[in-house]
Amino acid sequence: MAKKILIVEDEKSIVDILRFNLKKEGFDVIEAYDGEAAVRVANSQKPDLILLDVMLPEKDGFTVCREIRQTMNVPILMLTAKADEVDRILGLELGADDYILKPFSNRELVARVKANLRRMVIEDNTSKESGSFESNGLTIDYGRFEIRRDGKIIELTRREFELVKYLANHQGQIFSREALLEKVWGFEFFGDVRTVDVTVRRIREKLERDPSNCEYIMTKRGVGYYFFMPD
Ligand code: CA
Repeated sequence: MAKKILIVEDEKSIVDILRFNLKKEGFDVIEAYDGEAAVRVANSQKPDLILLDVMLPEKDGFTVCREIRQTMNVPILMLTAKADEVDRILGLELGADDYILKPFSNRELVARVKANLRRMVIEDNTSKESGSFESNGLTIDYGRFEIRRDGKIIELTRREFELVKYLANHQGQIFSREALLEKVWGFEFFGDVRTVDVTVRRIREKLERDPSNCEYIMTKRGVGYYFFMPD
């Protein structure tokens, strides 16, 4: 069955382009032109993925994202023209899955949509995973999607959790930012490596006892990131 994409955007010309390109790829497309309608349509139509503009009439994209997140686990890709909004978009309080900077290429947009839909399928299939990982006071409970440091729960977004889990599962192995984008985000064609840096920084602020002196997520200068492996 065709996947249903909800486009939330008040600029008609952008909606036209998005609709055209998504339909060409075989997706069903539904639309909302303001924030109020977005929440209503999302709840009644249950889309498989939402493309959500930040600047909207009635209710901005941040508010819409937060409201939809309370009831649905649907992937949300935010559209923004401002690079400085990226931190907020990927933050825990919003829980968006991804962002696309305007102006974007149609090819990039379609690739991101597909990557995020694919991730949902993979997550559904792995959600019954169990077991845990332990190192230096840090515990990762795979089944419960939970990370604790010294017994205290660390609040992470789903993506942050996935990144920590991936690095921990390959403890000591160094990954380039491009490799992490592909493995953890599922972007095969377009590497916006800033996403990895932003996510690592946010993880460190929550996870590390002292973010300026990391014990878990380490940087290998000029190469990438790895999970610390004790001797
Ligand atoms: Ca707009």
